[in-house]
Amino acid sequence: MDFSVKSFEVGPVAANCYILKDNNSNAGVVIDPGGNPEKILSAIKEMGVEVKFIALTHGHFDHIGGLKDVKKALDVPVLIHEYDGDMLIDAKRNLSAFVGAPGEMEAADVLLKDGDNISFGDCSLRVISTPGHTLGSVCFYGGGALFSGDTLFAGSVGRTDFPGGSTEEILNSIRNRLAKVPSATKVFPGHGPASTMEIERETNPFF
Ligand SMILES: [Zn+2]
Ligand SMILES: [Zn+2]
Repeated sequence: MDFSVKSFEVGPVAANCYILKDNNSNAGVVIDPGGNPEKILSAIKEMGVEVKFIALTHGHFDHIGGLKDVKKALDVPVLIHEYDGDMLIDAKRNLSAFVGAPGEMEAADVLLKDGDNISFGDCSLRVISTPGHTLGSVCFYGGGALFSGDTLFAGSVGRTDFPGGSTEEILNSIRNRLAKVPSATKVFPGHGPASTMEIERETNPFF
């Protein structure tokens, strides 16, 4: 991979937060700061990452719970797919209103579309729109890695019974939208352990 990846579980339902750091510079990215902002910020400091932006795989509360504090501390742009943008400013849509801790964030700085490239240092990630878990769910692909959010898990896929979810769409995303992602790609999901596309194509019943 062109960058190193540090992952750890954050927030009330153990979402994976990822910190990426370009191998040739200190530039990096935070993906899904779902909670425990102090933990995320101290990891950033420890790694010596110069964070360029915060990228979100989708707008659910468990992936944005630490966003407010991390953004405040780093003062960098927040990126999310255009169809999930409103979730940041709506405690019902990001589901936090239903878990007893309503959370609303500032609006996103950049609304992403399928095929956008986001770069940091010498690295870049391509936005692959993968609706199904939410309308604006995306995977970030680059440097031999896929950050698959709640679209693809090791051996499973994300729930589709939340507003905006669709089983048909998530299966289309998994089988068709991710079809060109090479088998050697490491998969870093929004929850649970990492995997590879090869393992998922061979063993995941949803493929
Ligand atoms: Zn979710
Ligand atoms: Zn989640």
